[in-house]
Amino acid sequence: MLYIIPDYYKEFQCIAGDCEDTCCAGWQIVVDEKSLGRYRKVRGSFRRRMLKSVNWRHKTFRQNEDRRCAFLNDNNLCDLYSDLGRESLCRTCRLYPRHIEEFEGVREITLSVSCPEAARILMNRMEPVTFLTVEREGEEEYPDFDPFLYSKLLDAREVLIQILQNRDLPLKVRTGLLYGIGRDMQRRINHQELFSCDEVLEKYKKPEATEFVFGKLAQNKNKYEEQYHFSREMFGKLYELEILKEDWYVQLRETELRLYARETPEEYAEMTKEFQMWMAESELPWEIQKEQLLVYFIFTYFCGAVYDGQILSKVQMAILSVQLLEEMVKACWLRNERILVMEDIIDLVYRYSREVEHSDINLRRMEKLMPHYHKLYD
Ligand code: SF4
Repeated sequence: MLYIIPDYYKEFQCIAGDCEDTCCAGWQIVVDEKSLGRYRKVRGSFRRRMLKSVNWRHKTFRQNEDRRCAFLNDNNLCDLYSDLGRESLCRTCRLYPRHIEEFEGVREITLSVSCPEAARILMNRMEPVTFLTVEREGEEEYPDFDPFLYSKLLDAREVLIQILQNRDLPLKVRTGLLYGIGRDMQRRINHQELFSCDEVLEKYKKPEATEFVFGKLAQNKNKYEEQYHFSREMFGKLYELEILKEDWYVQLRETELRLYARETPEEYAEMTKEFQMWMAESELPWEIQKEQLLVYFIFTYFCGAVYDGQILSKVQMAILSVQLLEEMVKACWLRNERILVMEDIIDLVYRYSREVEHSDINLRRMEKLMPHYHKLYD
């Protein structure tokens, strides 16, 4: 079995009671069978608490009215952990914030940025991320797995990450190349021309492709109306997602009001320009942070196209997530009277990830919301 992890993986350590949030509230924690078996056998003073705190039928931990786990105490510490030890945790709690994507003979593990500490590691990371592979014993076969498509996706992902980490190019150009590869590969897959996907990758490595994207961006540079309506429309799509935490709705409304409700397209463009200038002069490495986020999304989700063939939507989801985050960062900058600190960015990143990445419904909806995306690059 091959394990692939980002090089910062081992830097993570849960900060438990010092965490500004908790991973034990706001979402359902599903308990695996093995842990349920152990929980049934708990005796002594903790038995009554255990019986009351597990929803045995739905195989989840019960939550109070604030959607906090029944084992979470007022200090944001886990009573299950304190009373019965680390080994008593269920698989979900033991693994979090590790996110595992499964492929035949391969496990790709990332640290989900829905954990503030994992987001902090990624957002403070200046060097391009690399990925490490570890081989361990164990083989497996998946009945309907397509190893050929998976190998093409791995090749493509390597090129996408190389492009994203090419800091000689503006991030907008790298993003345009990313989109172009996703779109062209999707066309080949739709026409069952998987063999020719290599040509797409070769094409996008050439300087002509970069020049083409530069040209497209130059053409769109002053289309304020379009950019404004596109951003507003895309942002509005976030309301179509399942809301996991009440305060997320407040966050969306506030961002929408600050950015779009009062501004005309020209004012919006002017404010965006000011924001970009402020960011460029600040100590915040926002261009690098966006690169790290794009690499994070592409690494985590791109190869999942082996199960549904939807390459383009994975690419679009990565690009759009970073654009939507930028809109929220911009609104936060306005709210703070045009100042931002690193913690503002970490806060938005982990909260966005919680809402979008931790709901299968939302991940599916995000992919469906994407067809409009071509307006910006085609
Ligand atoms: S969100 Fe992350 S740092 Fe906070 S308690 Fe959970 S695992 Fe620990």
